[in-house]
Amino acid sequence: MTYEQLKAEENQYVMNTYGRFPIALDHGEGATLWDVEGKKYIDLASGIGVNCLGYNNPVLTDAITAQAHKLMHVSNLFTTEPMVQVAKKLVEKTHLDGKVFFANSGAEANEGAIKLARKYSFDKYGEGRFKIITLVNSFHGRTVTTLKATGQDRFHNYFFPFTEGFDYAEANNFDSVRRKVDDMTCAVMMELVQGEGGVLPLDPEFVKQVEALCREKDLLLIIDEVQTGIGRTGSLFCFQQYDVRPDVVTMAKGLGGGVPIGAVLAAKSCSNVLTPGTHATTFGGTPMVCAAANAVLDTVANGEFLAQVREKGEYLKNGILSIGSPNIHGVRGMGLMLGIIVDEGKHAAFANKLIEKGVLAITAGKNAVRLLPPLTISKAEMDEALTIMKEVF
Ligand SMILES: *Cc1c(COP(=O)(O)O)cnc(C)c1O
Repeated sequence: MTYEQLKAEENQYVMNTYGRFPIALDHGEGATLWDVEGKKYIDLASGIGVNCLGYNNPVLTDAITAQAHKLMHVSNLFTTEPMVQVAKKLVEKTHLDGKVFFANSGAEANEGAIKLARKYSFDKYGEGRFKIITLVNSFHGRTVTTLKATGQDRFHNYFFPFTEGFDYAEANNFDSVRRKVDDMTCAVMMELVQGEGGVLPLDPEFVKQVEALCREKDLLLIIDEVQTGIGRTGSLFCFQQYDVRPDVVTMAKGLGGGVPIGAVLAAKSCSNVLTPGTHATTFGGTPMVCAAANAVLDTVANGEFLAQVREKGEYLKNGILSIGSPNIHGVRGMGLMLGIIVDEGKHAAFANKLIEKGVLAITAGKNAVRLLPPLTISKAEMDEALTIMKEVF
């Protein structure tokens, strides 16, 4: 089918919840994609930071295929080896002496973390200590609860009543966090680089201060690594570069390299809070997605691979800055999570133009063209994208 035919049927049969770009993607190889009409694109978005190993990567496709032949799904009432392996890798690589709960998406991982924080506090202090502080401009998901956890007013519409018990502090303003914390607070939840909010890295000193406050008040420090995790920022998890010890780390996006999987990693401080009957999900940790996550972690959780992510990030950032366009006001972010800063409100027009010219990019916040390329992107692919970016900017 052509794009026009597909789009007509989409309009008829699919709910209109996305402002989709006007192309229909068909297949990919490495960090390169082709649409149904055969037009080629360099992918600097990888879904939204999902396809970390690129397209048609045999490491991933073979792992999924082999597991599909063997055993795709069993209920969580049984033990399976791929699930145990993923958990073990996550625990060993994070040095938090923790345990893992598997979910299916980022929002669900955050829901798990929120439930965990509230139960931790309930078990220890009884009722009434339920409040979770998040940051202004954050993004934590689209369920009724994680929408309310998201510190942006525009997400708090239509779906009333929202879950109570969230309050928002200003990022990089420790006083603001301290003022919001009271006797009813049980946790602080934040992204270390605000992704949807505009690719905004938090100040290391602020993060350290929040960590100290959490220790002082026995609040759980929940780090939402749904976008920053799995090598995206140049370390397996971003918190490892901030040198803090979270109580809970949530992840999803890159973890399955393209299949839906999320996870909650709880450190030793709270790894036994969720017990039989308190939390569950039918698909969580099913063997096929865990086979994918094992392939992803075996590739990404490796010093050499992560060093390459940091080098590629520098290369891409310097390449963009050296375009020297007056439309580019800077590049921020970490590793291969970058935001090209343009005039406020112009980011969508630039993303559209890039896509038209053959580079897939997305937007973030008010003024960022967001780049989240596959971590495996080649230098040749980055150069091709830079040539197109030069033309567009
Ligand atoms: C994408 C994202 C989520 C939500 O993940 P879904 O898989 O879409 O539910 C939550 N937190 C952050 C930081 C994200 O980037």
